[in-house]
Amino acid sequence: MAKKIERRNSTIHGNGVFAKAHIKKGEEIVEYKGELITHAKADAKYHGDLDTGHTFLFSLNEKWIINGNKDGNIARWINHSCAPNAIAFVHEHESGKLKKDRVIIEALRDIAPGEEITYDYGFEFDVPYTKALKAIWACRCGSPTCTGTMLKPKKRNSAA
Ligand SMILES: [Zn+2]
Repeated sequence: MAKKIERRNSTIHGNGVFAKAHIKKGEEIVEYKGELITHAKADAKYHGDLDTGHTFLFSLNEKWIINGNKDGNIARWINHSCAPNAIAFVHEHESGKLKKDRVIIEALRDIAPGEEITYDYGFEFDVPYTKALKAIWACRCGSPTCTGTMLKPKKRNSAA
């Protein structure tokens, strides 16, 4: 894993991760690594990320967040796309210990050498989606189905 990819400049955003070799559909590309911190700590320490349009935090499960700022690897440079060629799967550990869950980025389809690796971040922030916030988290993936934002529409309660 991770040998088939490299980090370089991206037209989507800053750095990106690109295939160096052919990657097959379903193949594991790389694990998203980093220090495990609680949601409370992430909120306290990285709340400012909201205003930057960039984050190295990955929500692992209800208890833990992977903090790619510390002990992170190349996976933290993978950009968001509305038409991604990869997906981030949370692999729940058989022991049920939340701390042992892992995130693996896998290919959604065959990926050719030179293609940028992307997945759908699926961000949902617990704040109002103002115009300013949407502008900060604007998507520039360039796909025909681009929604223009990395923010996921909020789910409404269907309590009717
Ligand atoms: Zn897009």
